[in-house]
Amino acid sequence: MESVDLVIVGAGWHGLAALKTYRQVHPTATIVLLDSASSVGGVWATQRLYPGLKSNNMLGTYEYSDFPMDASFGVQPGDHIPGEVVHSYLQRYVDHFGLMPCIRLDTAVTVIERVDGDGDGDGDGDGGWETIQTQPQPQPQPQPPKSTPPNSSSPRV
Ligand SMILES: Cc1cc2nc3c(=O)[nH]c(=O)nc-3n(C[C@H](O)[C@H](O)[C@H](O)COP(=O)(O)OP(=O)(O)OC[C@H]3O[C@@H](n4cnc5c(N)ncnc54)[C@H](O)[C@@H]3O)c2cc1C
Repeated sequence: MESVDLVIVGAGWHGLAALKTYRQVHPTATIVLLDSASSVGGVWATQRLYPGLKSNNMLGTYEYSDFPMDASFGVQPGDHIPGEVVHSYLQRYVDHFGLMPCIRLDTAVTVIERVDGDGDGDGDGDGGWETIQTQPQPQPQPQPPKSTPPNSSSPRV
């Protein structure tokens, strides 16, 4: 059985920020970030994107303070950020801070158990977290492309 200092579940905005920050504060800690998806991004993982998807957010309102969404992402001021840009931004955040070695994709967390630290039998977790079980996530089968209805506007999430 593998033992680590910290397990983070979810490679979305919050999980990635937690991973990056914890590593900065505890550089020698062993950390694993698990996600059932096959790419980082959470809501903005590649398999959850669809053509025309845009975020509700304008440029400058959906980014980490230490990693600006600069001109290289191609979003103009006042424009909604496309979903694929949000995804590539989060992937570049991972690459920029060297987080990928800590991330395990296609890995679903199925059980998390707490330690009954005070031994009173109520399992209230005084001793922290003990067991995390995972299982490989089956890969979705490729779907045929869906046709876009005429006169549909770009959907926003
Ligand atoms: C459809 C939709 C559209 C949205 N649009 C916007 C928007 O335009 N602008 C905005 O500001 N916010 C939007 N949001 C809110 C959005 O959730 C947040 O902005 C942000 O993406 C949340 O990040 P997160 O890291 O908290 O969670 P998420 O991005 O949801 O990431 C959670 C990750 O945890 C993983 N996970 C969960 N359970 C397990 C498990 N048991 N084992 C392994 N992995 C697991 C999931 O696979 C997922 O990748 C939207 C949310 C949804 C659902």
